[in-house]
Amino acid sequence: MDLPRYSDEYEKGVKSSLDFAYTYGDPQGKEILCLCDKCCNVRWTRRDVVYNHLIACGFVDGYKRYVAQAGRLSEGPDEDAKKFYNLINEASQEL
Ligand SMILES: [Zn+2]
Repeated sequence: MDLPRYSDEYEKGVKSSLDFAYTYGDPQGKEILCLCDKCCNVRWTRRDVVYNHLIACGFVDGYKRYVAQAGRLSEGPDEDAKKFYNLINEASQEL
């Protein structure tokens, strides 16, 4: 994601990413691996904390790889997943 972090689009992307992580990722109860640049996908945190981290620090490098991996784990991309791939791809394009 290369969008400015204060933009509505970025916020939307963060929310979609959280939904995606809870749907296709591997949540442990209420916690997921934080996707932010500081936690680098190794620290378990709650949704509101991850949200704040992503706004404050941005996404970890290789986030798209994570999405691709998570997508493969589910049974083929469904409509929601496809929408999400498009969102991430659009968000990653140069402005
Ligand atoms: Zn974090």
